[in-house]
Amino acid sequence: MGTGFDFEIIEHDERARAGIFHTPHGDLLTPVFAPVGTQGTVKSVTPAQLEQLDASLVLANTYHLYLRPGDKVIADLGGLHQFMHWDKPLLTDSGGFQVFSLAESRRISDDGVTFKSHIDGSTHELTPEKSIAIQENLGADIIMAFDECGSPYDIAKNETAMLRTHHWVERCITVKTRSDQALFGIIQGGIYPELRIRSAEFLASLDLPGYAIGGLSVGETKKETLSTLELVDQYLPETKPRYLMGVGSPEDLVRGVQRGVDIFDCVLPTRLARHHAAMTRTGRINIANARYSTEKSPLDENCSCYTCKNFSSAYIRHLVLAKEMLAATLLSIHNLHMLITLMNDIRQAIMNHQFDHFATNFLENWESAL
Ligand SMILES: [Zn+2]
Repeated sequence: MGTGFDFEIIEHDERARAGIFHTPHGDLLTPVFAPVGTQGTVKSVTPAQLEQLDASLVLANTYHLYLRPGDKVIADLGGLHQFMHWDKPLLTDSGGFQVFSLAESRRISDDGVTFKSHIDGSTHELTPEKSIAIQENLGADIIMAFDECGSPYDIAKNETAMLRTHHWVERCITVKTRSDQALFGIIQGGIYPELRIRSAEFLASLDLPGYAIGGLSVGETKKETLSTLELVDQYLPETKPRYLMGVGSPEDLVRGVQRGVDIFDCVLPTRLARHHAAMTRTGRINIANARYSTEKSPLDENCSCYTCKNFSSAYIRHLVLAKEMLAATLLSIHNLHMLITLMNDIRQAIMNHQFDHFATNFLENWESAL
């Protein structure tokens, strides 16, 4: 397992790492932020625009694509890369998290989960074997083991979910057939150090090509998130990429990299864009606000994205008020550019052994603007 998915660490700066993760669809320069294309599309932007933004990894959701249009349809049409016209690396999740958050009438057992589709109420079963079969039909470069996420403050439920996750990852490994996909395992254990250590040690023993830290950003405090990251950092193999799922606010990216994380994904930049918010390095602005009605300057004076190079804030506010589709596109381009260039700057700072300084400055500016 893992052939062709070498991870090279180019530079360390304290716990932060700059690396290259090799995949069949190209190299990921880490740390990296992955935009989310839930339905096989990053909402409101074209693949050509994503290329121009220098996005390198896109995440798609197994649960949604399995229910509609169906993974077999996508396989018949040449796989997800061809279906959505994205030639660079793709990552699919296992479907587990969304079954737990979106589907109705869930019944979980050691075998898997039965649930009703949120689209038409039809009954389905997702097991580790089925999740891998679906993800093999989709054909992403990085695929995820089927896992159960415990609720943050219940130690008994977390232990059950963790043990189930461990059995399930072994079943995923057994049935996986494609050698051009890297299967990442997911560490669970909630906020409980003893469970997190057990989970990290167990997964490390499986020698998978990468590891995700699951069960965070699900209701625990920020302090608990960070101390969990610091803990698992000590127990995960240095030589494998670490992926923090569902995290993408600028300060969380900086704090995650400080604690050894290499890969992030989040819907935040495109979701905020649809709610008229532009991300900057000192916080968010709501462009629908009346103060931008005659504003000649771009969303962010310091930004070099297509939107900021060509459009005034007043124009984007006008598009928002007129409910024009271009508003979401221009705001998404800006927000994605903001996170992708932030990650590039973080990587450069690590390469120059100046990341500590970069992070301190960034977090001071961020907090003083709150
Ligand atoms: Zn911009």
